[in-house]
Amino acid sequence: MNKILEVKNTEKSYKENKAIHNLSFDVYEGEILGLLGPNGAGKSTMISILSTLLKSDAGEINVFGYSLMSHTNHVKSQLGIVPQEIAIYEDISAYRNVAFFASLYGLQKSELKRRVHDALKFVGLDDKENELPKTFSGGMKRRLNIACAIAHHPKLLILDEPTVGIDPQSRNHILSSLKQLKEMGTTIIYTTHYMEEVEEIADRIVIMDKGRKIAEGTLHELLERYKDTLIYRLYIQGLTLDIENQLRMIQGVENIERLEDSLTITISKKEDIFHKIILLIIQENCHITKMEMEEGNLEMVFLELTGKKLRD
Ligand code: ADP
Repeated sequence: MNKILEVKNTEKSYKENKAIHNLSFDVYEGEILGLLGPNGAGKSTMISILSTLLKSDAGEINVFGYSLMSHTNHVKSQLGIVPQEIAIYEDISAYRNVAFFASLYGLQKSELKRRVHDALKFVGLDDKENELPKTFSGGMKRRLNIACAIAHHPKLLILDEPTVGIDPQSRNHILSSLKQLKEMGTTIIYTTHYMEEVEEIADRIVIMDKGRKIAEGTLHELLERYKDTLIYRLYIQGLTLDIENQLRMIQGVENIERLEDSLTITISKKEDIFHKIILLIIQENCHITKMEMEEGNLEMVFLELTGKKLRD
């Protein structure tokens, strides 16, 4: 597979605050790389460095085989960047917004017109092309921002948390159009703190925390360790510390976390013990009001590697 991007030993500090520590990762042609991490992990800083808005303190970055430092303009012409802060003009039409950004990449008249229409159609805003973004919802503005970043057909599209604070319809639209762009050959870097999104769209995942890469792999590889694990969340009326402790004693219970009247119980799939858990709770005259079950997910990977939840 062709390497589209190589990030090697990158460092970046804001005064004393080290935002990126010795970060290295690669992105291969045609894949969606999910960059997952909680707020403050360093995702935006990394994206700003890739967009050449920020300069790294150390390390080497190659894009399409060229050094980002020495071939900045050549590289930038083939990048599409969707920053976290929506960067559009509120008082000119959606069409003119996209046309403005596309013209910066040298697209000329008829070609430009076609590409702008295509980009607006792609994000589902073709019926709004003459309207002003100031009348748009947050999700529509975000989709317009994406149209501005793709009209010149970038080889590598980089999006920084594009679904934060938007409606579910726009979110679904964005995720499915990114999958479609990938099918059309675009390589994509997608940053988010929502694990479900990378689980849904990423071919490979880099997990970051406090500026460092803490894990990397396909979803399957990252979850391999948890393939034999099941998690039950039980909401129990009348739950006591004694019951919690008795449950911990059952062989095959790997972990129990309590939050008010709910218990999150991790058990091994190999041990057939779920009935023992339920029986114990019923014998103690408690009432289970709700029950959820999940299999291994990236939240567990993160918890195990950092000791904290992704959303803490
Ligand atoms: P993320 O995008 O994963 O939320 P950021 O790259 O925004 O993470 O932040 C990484 C670290 O750098 C955090 O500690 C944050 O407070 C700090 N940081 C980010 N931008 C600036 C800035 N402009 N000035 C100073 N510190 C910053």
